[in-house]
Amino acid sequence: MFQAFLIKYGEIGIKGKNRHLFEDALVHQIKYALKPVEGEFLITKEQGRIYIEALGNYDYEEVIESLQCVFGIVGICPVVLTEDKGFEQLVEDIISYLDSHYTDKNKTFKVNTRRARKNYPLSSMEINAVLGEKILEAFPEMKVDVHNPDIMIHIEIRKKINIYSDIIPGLGGMPVGTNGKAMLLLSGGIDSPVAGYMIAKRGVKIDAVYFHAPPYTSERAKQKVVDLAKIVAKYSGPIYLKVINFTDIQMYIYEKCPHEELTIIMRRYMMRIAEYFAKETNSLGLVTGESIGQVASQTMQSLAATNEVCELPVYRPLIGFDKQEIIAVSEKIGTYETSILPYEDCCTIFVAKHPVTKPNLKIIKRSETHLEEKIEEMVKTAIDTAETIVVEAERL
Ligand code: ATP
Ligand code: MG
Repeated sequence: MFQAFLIKYGEIGIKGKNRHLFEDALVHQIKYALKPVEGEFLITKEQGRIYIEALGNYDYEEVIESLQCVFGIVGICPVVLTEDKGFEQLVEDIISYLDSHYTDKNKTFKVNTRRARKNYPLSSMEINAVLGEKILEAFPEMKVDVHNPDIMIHIEIRKKINIYSDIIPGLGGMPVGTNGKAMLLLSGGIDSPVAGYMIAKRGVKIDAVYFHAPPYTSERAKQKVVDLAKIVAKYSGPIYLKVINFTDIQMYIYEKCPHEELTIIMRRYMMRIAEYFAKETNSLGLVTGESIGQVASQTMQSLAATNEVCELPVYRPLIGFDKQEIIAVSEKIGTYETSILPYEDCCTIFVAKHPVTKPNLKIIKRSETHLEEKIEEMVKTAIDTAETIVVEAERL
């Protein structure tokens, strides 16, 4: 059983001062991911490495699963850490490592040594050569293969000696918290949770806003959005979710504006309100799950009309994705099953039979003037009555 894990992370673009920010954020996210896992863990940074040591019993599978949700981790190496007690001892340690971790010895191997400190009496090449021989002596079934070995035995000579032979892939990306914050427009659909995941993958912390339209949308529809946020939070960390009561605004637009323009005008008000909260909480942009051409409200003209009300940049990480590609990601991250549950969405309730697909901004703006009497007051009320829910990660 391994008592420690060596965490590998990407090094491109994290030179100098950024490196500390990157590492500190990564340690923070690892702690968050391990919090609900049974066992006690010590997390340390050393010479450009992050180690997780288990102080006592722990659940191996759970640790791996949790770490596989942390952005910034490229590889997770279950590692044996030994004190440097001379080369003889190292030989013994390697032999017993192989003996205990590989019951079937009928395998090819290669020894790959790296010295992070140069005061070790043997060079890396010498260590590789001598250890190779000793392994062949100890396990005659094993064979050397320097090109494509079954077992790559990594030995790193550091303060302690690191022995590992397995690199479990991580998610990659950047640790959340290294690239500012954005406001996600989160609906109960398939797309927006995936969009949130993808932005968080680049190190961006996310808050979210959901437009609720009771009694047309039910408590269950709202709960579905909270459930989706819980799943996204496994990767992004806790999400501050604003639930906006959108019913009055929708009804008012329905009453005053041409029905084929309803969706566009409604989406413009969603963006305005989302932007208000984004600015209030220091988000640097808005995020949606839109992709070009998916529906009438996502043609280039519609996107332009929606965009026009925003001062902050609007990020659309799925812009070039086909639905099937989006579904593939949602299945991978675990949101798909929840997304397809059949609860009503506020956009579908008032939807027109023939929505405009090429909205003309001048016409849309003219229609919006019909709202002048009450809309400002309504937006203010929606903002003032917003509910905030702190959504923590759903646990395994
Ligand atoms: P999704 O699967 O994410 O619901 P969709 O294909 O249903 O997307 P639309 O309903 O046109 O597309 O919505 C486009 C985007 O607008 C969504 O991805 C989401 O970011 C945002 N959005 C739509 N409805 C809501 C809502 N009720 N609350 C918050 N954001 C919403
Ligand atoms: Mg939707």
